[in-house]
Amino acid sequence: MKYELVVGLETHVELLTKTKIFCSCINGFGAEPNTHCCPICIGHPGTLPKLNKEVINLAVKAGLATNCHINLKSNMDRKNYVYPDLSKAYQISQYNIPICENGYIELSSGKRIRINRIHMEEDAGKLVHKGGDVYIDYNRGGVPLIEIVTEPDISSSGEAREYVEKLQSILRYVEVSDCKMQEGSMRCDINVSVKPVGSCKLGVRTEIKNMNSVTFMTKAIDYEFERQSDILENKGEVVQQTLRYCENSNSTESMREKEDAQDYRYFKDPDLVDIVLSEEDVNKLKKSLPELPDVRIKRYAEDFGVSKSDAELIVKYKNAADFFEKASKGLQSPKTVSNFIIGQIFRVIETESEREKFNILITPNQLNELVKLIEGNKINMNLAKKTFSRMLETGKSAADFISESDMQEISQSELEEICKEAIKSNSKAVNDYLGGKEKALKAILGNVMRQTKGRGNAQMIEEKLVNLLKNS
Ligand code: ADP
Ligand code: MG
Ligand code: ZN
Repeated sequence: MKYELVVGLETHVELLTKTKIFCSCINGFGAEPNTHCCPICIGHPGTLPKLNKEVINLAVKAGLATNCHINLKSNMDRKNYVYPDLSKAYQISQYNIPICENGYIELSSGKRIRINRIHMEEDAGKLVHKGGDVYIDYNRGGVPLIEIVTEPDISSSGEAREYVEKLQSILRYVEVSDCKMQEGSMRCDINVSVKPVGSCKLGVRTEIKNMNSVTFMTKAIDYEFERQSDILENKGEVVQQTLRYCENSNSTESMREKEDAQDYRYFKDPDLVDIVLSEEDVNKLKKSLPELPDVRIKRYAEDFGVSKSDAELIVKYKNAADFFEKASKGLQSPKTVSNFIIGQIFRVIETESEREKFNILITPNQLNELVKLIEGNKINMNLAKKTFSRMLETGKSAADFISESDMQEISQSELEEICKEAIKSNSKAVNDYLGGKEKALKAILGNVMRQTKGRGNAQMIEEKLVNLLKNS
């Protein structure tokens, strides 16, 4: 039988607030262990939490940016469980009423991955395993999180990747989270099941916890799909359980039987008041949002003539998109700028995190000047590309590599002379061309381009050569 994959994702992201969710300790990554804690975030009895308003603002922003409905009234609940990284033995979270519900993220294909809910909660501390001992670092305890839960709408590991990268990009644009998977400020739990193709009944799912890399996440999904399909193929039953992914063996192993909601004995936290927002609060936050990635992609395609796939590549990284906009100011063809970014800048900065930072030596204005030279027919594309490579290496401007004489637009008479010379000295190519081999023209063209030192425009030269050869 053929099976299809069903995936739902639960993504935790740490919020970019200055302080923690219920106390005034600093929310920051990488400090000395247990230096950013107090009796509240360690959970001493008798202390009282107070909800950080900025956490609500960021959660609402995340909801608005992912097309969610915002619940004007919600509250915090207690989720009870025992684990050493959670000293008060309950996590403060949202259960019945999350702050945001019913949103979606649209993939490039147009398919929408529905978001069931976004809720706010506190992070737990971190267990550090060292030489057979286990240490606890409570710095992360009480760091504000939102959890974004999708419907089981994802049907391939590629869609899972696209969804996560899009979510990352959106949350970075609206400055809700830096979404650094390697530092743990974004972590995904993946729920995977399989079902016979075409069946509407969902299969039994397993949940793989805490993926901190998109690549491993896709591998884990592919592995789990094969494993579950094999079980069903052999008339076995998939066991609902919580799994861990092992990078070394590229396989999953059991952590525990999956717990049900009732195991957590959720109840409303009596220490915290209800969260009440007005329409006006929400509208204010809506107005504060920057232009979102999807809107930018559409604008680049419609107003700037950039292809949708190129626009997606650039818009994914806010810094790259901002650079593109500045570098395109006043140009006839912003598409040339996007070609330089994708074809040359992205070749120098290859990793996701480098592209995110977009630390390059040249300014948008320097690229703008170069493209102006192309548009003014002062230099051709060949020379421009070579020049741009050197600009990227050195941080210098186009003018440092191209002399005045290089930029003097070549006169028609000079060009004609050079073309005639080239025809004379390439008799073999000329004969081939006249004998019907159209490709032979390239050799003559190359020769002329070299002679003009990049001043002539290839199309113009080609036309001139064809004319001369026709009349020869
Ligand atoms: P829990 O909080 O217990 O993990 P939920 O029912 O809230 O459970 O679902 C969590 C995630 O699991 C959601 O993203 C949901 O879409 C996904 N999910 C639920 N059932 C399935 C299934 N049969 N196959 C794949 N994903 C599923
Ligand atoms: Mg879950
Ligand atoms: Zn604290």
